[in-house]
Amino acid sequence: MESSNSEITLREYAPRPMLTVPAHEIDRPRFDVIDAHNHLGGGVFGDSDYFHRWPVEQLLALMDSVSVRMIFDLDGGWGERLRSEIAHYQEPHPDRFAVFAGLDYDNFASDPNFGETEARRLRDSVAQGARGLKAWKVLGLRLRDTQGRLIPIDDERLGPLWETAGELDVPVLIHIADPVAFFEPLDRFNERWEELQENPDWHFYPIRPKGDLNHPDFPSFQELMDQFENLLTRHAKTTFIGAHVGCYAENLGWVGRVMDKCPNFYADISARIQELGRQPVTAHEFFVRHQDRILFGTDAAPDVAVYRLYYRFLETRDEYINSDTRGEMPGNGRWMIYGLDLPDDVLRKVYYDNAHRLITARHASEVK
Ligand SMILES: [Zn+2]
Repeated sequence: MESSNSEITLREYAPRPMLTVPAHEIDRPRFDVIDAHNHLGGGVFGDSDYFHRWPVEQLLALMDSVSVRMIFDLDGGWGERLRSEIAHYQEPHPDRFAVFAGLDYDNFASDPNFGETEARRLRDSVAQGARGLKAWKVLGLRLRDTQGRLIPIDDERLGPLWETAGELDVPVLIHIADPVAFFEPLDRFNERWEELQENPDWHFYPIRPKGDLNHPDFPSFQELMDQFENLLTRHAKTTFIGAHVGCYAENLGWVGRVMDKCPNFYADISARIQELGRQPVTAHEFFVRHQDRILFGTDAAPDVAVYRLYYRFLETRDEYINSDTRGEMPGNGRWMIYGLDLPDDVLRKVYYDNAHRLITARHASEVK
C-alpha cells in the first residue's frame, strides 16, 4: 500500500539506505568450516519445507561449494529415529556429519525418575553412535513434573543425565531462553515487536513471581540465566555448548564472565549475527578473548546465501550489512550489522578447530 501521507504504519516503513561504502562478498571462507548448530532431520517439530531430511549427495555438494566440511545435526532424537538419522548421514560420511541425540520431553510429566531415564536413554544413544546431546529450551520454560511444577534448568533430578554426558565425554548443546525482548511486554518499547506480532507463541510473558514453580506464567529471562549458570558450575566435568552465543548474545559481558568462571562452557554463534553485528567492537573483543570456546553455527537449514553472509560478517570490516539474505528489512530487529574483521588465528579456531576438538574427545574413538 503506497502512502505519501505524513502518517504511515510501521509495517509500511521500509527505508532504503542511501549509504555508499565498500562491500566485499565472500564466496568461500578463508578456512574450512564446521557448522556446529544445524538441523538435518526436521527439527523437534518434524519435517517442514525449511527443515527436512536431505538427499545426502545433494547436501554434500552444497557443503563443498561453501567449504563446509562438517555439520552437527541436532535432530537425532533417540531409538528408531536416531538409528535412521545416523544411518542416513553419519554412517556413510562420519567425517562430514555428527548426529546429536535428543531427550524425550513428553516423558517428564509422567515419569518421576525422568533424570535417570534420560541418562539411560543417552547411554543407549551414544552406544548407537550419537556424538552429542541436544537439550531444548522447553526445559526451564515449559516442562512440568508429575506434580505440575515447572522443572528448573538446574533441577537436581537431571543431575544423572548431565553427569552421564560428562562421563561419556559427549558435549551437550543446550538452548536456554530466547532473545531477551521475548520476555518483555509487547508494547512500543519492545525491540522485537514485529517478530513477536508474527509469532505470538515466541512471547514468554507475563512473568511469574521468582521461584514460584506452581505458577502458570513464565520465569523471567534473568531467572533462567541464573539457573543456567548454576548448571554450568555444578556439572563442571560436562561440556556445555550454549546455543545462540551462550543464550545471551545481548550481553556478552555475562557470557564472557561465565566463560571465565566455567571452563566447560562453550558457545555457538548460530542465529545471532544480528545481535553480534550491532556491537562490533564488543563482539570483536569477545571473539579474541574467548577464541577457544566459540563455535561457528547457523541454525538456518544449509543455505549457500546464509553461509556467505556469515563469512562476510566474520571476515570483513564491511559496514551496514543487511542480515536478511533477501534484502528486506531484517525481521529480527530493525537494524543493520557490521563486520568483525577477525584475525586468521581466531577464525580458524571458531570455524573449525573448537568444534572438531569437542567431538574428537577422549572417548569418541572407543564408542562403537
Ligand atoms: Zn537450533
